Amino acid sequence: MSQPFRLVSGGLIDRTQPLRFRFDGREYQGFAGDTLASALLANGARLIGRSFKYHRPRGVLTAGPEEPNAMVHLRTGARREPNTRATMVELYDGLEATSQHCWPSPRFDALAVNALLSPLFPAGFYSKTFMWPAGFWKRVYEPVIRRAAGLGAAATEPDPDRYEKMHVHVDVLVVGGGPAGIASAVYAGSEGMSALVLEDVAIGGQAGTSRSTCRWSAPARPVLQRPRPRPAPGPGSCCARNAPSSAGRCAASV
Ligand SMILES: Cc1cc2nc3c(=O)[nH]c(=O)nc-3n(C[C@H](O)[C@H](O)[C@H](O)COP(=O)(O)OP(=O)(O)OC[C@H]3O[C@@H](n4cnc5c(N)ncnc54)[C@H](O)[C@@H]3O)c2cc1C
Repeated sequence: MSQPFRLVSGGLIDRTQPLRFRFDGREYQGFAGDTLASALLANGARLIGRSFKYHRPRGVLTAGPEEPNAMVHLRTGARREPNTRATMVELYDGLEATSQHCWPSPRFDALAVNALLSPLFPAGFYSKTFMWPAGFWKRVYEPVIRRAAGLGAAATEPDPDRYEKMHVHVDVLVVGGGPAGIASAVYAGSEGMSALVLEDVAIGGQAGTSRSTCRWSAPARPVLQRPRPRPAPGPGSCCARNAPSSAGRCAASV
């Protein structure tokens, strides 16, 4: 399958491991290491959804949790997960996603008519306009506005899954396991405090994931990559190293 927007090499993509997935019923191919967003972009799929109010065409804007546009329904049936950021979903074989907040499709969205009426809809107009008759807000205005402007739709069946959870009490919680995060946790440990590092992608941050680092001092990499001894669990402290949680993140104790 041709992927006109895929670089030939580089990044965290394993181009020897193709994965098949579907978006809005259409089959695509990505590779291990892709996110749903990167795989869609590689295939030239740039239109992912529509904007909240005026239903203007929207595509991927960022590369992480801050993504405001590329929100999709992930999976189907009881496991359907609405408002999932395509930039945060690691691609897997058989992944199924659909666009949300557009009907019948992102390409042709009937509610795009809102954009034509935008001069009549200034910010907050609904808070001032739909005030009477008083009983209409709850029964008519709000249900209609929510249907037109709401985002994804949650699954209606009970959730069949059970979730991993962990109760942790530490002195210092560090978010981000790059050099700065690891150093903070090491220094906290050297002061006798317990520390927990939460990492989204890979312990080591950019220093661990960039292949082209050239000026790292010789001892820097081995220090970052060396497995650290696990401290004896003390009362009220519980840590796991590189244990993926239900959110797909890593936690490392230092
Ligand atoms: C290609 C490249 C080459 C480089 N070469 C060198 C070099 O040769 N020598 C040198 O000294 N420097 C080099 N650098 C710079 C160096 O890698 C960075 O300065 C350093 O990694 C910054 O460390 P940091 O901990 O501040 O941030 P980062 O390394 O960016 O780490 C931040 C971490 O936080 C995680 N994170 C972010 N948000 C969340 C969240 N919400 N929850 C959980 N985790 C989260 C990220 O996944 C990341 O792992 C290079 C950088 C690049 C990109």
